[in-house]
Amino acid sequence: MDQAFDAVLFDRDGTLIRDVPYNGDPGRVAPMPGAREVLRDVRAHGLRTGVVSNQSGIGRGLLTEEQVAAVNARVEELLGRFGTWQICPHHPDDGCACRKPAPGLVLAACEALNVSPERTVVVGDIGADVVAAQAAGAVPVLVPTGVTRPEEVERAPRTAPDLLAVLEMIR
Ligand SMILES: [Mg+2]
Ligand SMILES: [Zn+2]
Repeated sequence: MDQAFDAVLFDRDGTLIRDVPYNGDPGRVAPMPGAREVLRDVRAHGLRTGVVSNQSGIGRGLLTEEQVAAVNARVEELLGRFGTWQICPHHPDDGCACRKPAPGLVLAACEALNVSPERTVVVGDIGADVVAAQAAGAVPVLVPTGVTRPEEVERAPRTAPDLLAVLEMIR
């Protein structure tokens, strides 16, 4: 099969799992509709997977790294193993190079998976995910939710109504 892509990176909150702001409780992790199916299919096609997630709750002092790790472990229990996890723990005011919309998390994930950004899809629910993907040279797909602003939808080069529709774009 002629595949255009080697990897799919997912935003975590609002994309793979329901967005519970600053959640440190693994018991509150709930997959988004289609997440299991998409990951099963993506992995079955031999594509690598990763998660790229801003977790400023750590930098804000609202979450510990251990809590975030526990939530991430629950995500893997529910959705299977990912090839890489790239987390930005910084406060928005820190000016780090990793917090989306900066490209750092996407670039680090591509490096960890040994794939090129041009052959990597980044799926997210807000404009920062799209901009981070573009800044890294990857291919963004926006899956809007209730928190996605209309202008973010308008600016996105590619949108999908849900995760299952993303599959049709990448295979
Ligand atoms: Mg999100
Ligand atoms: Zn950062």
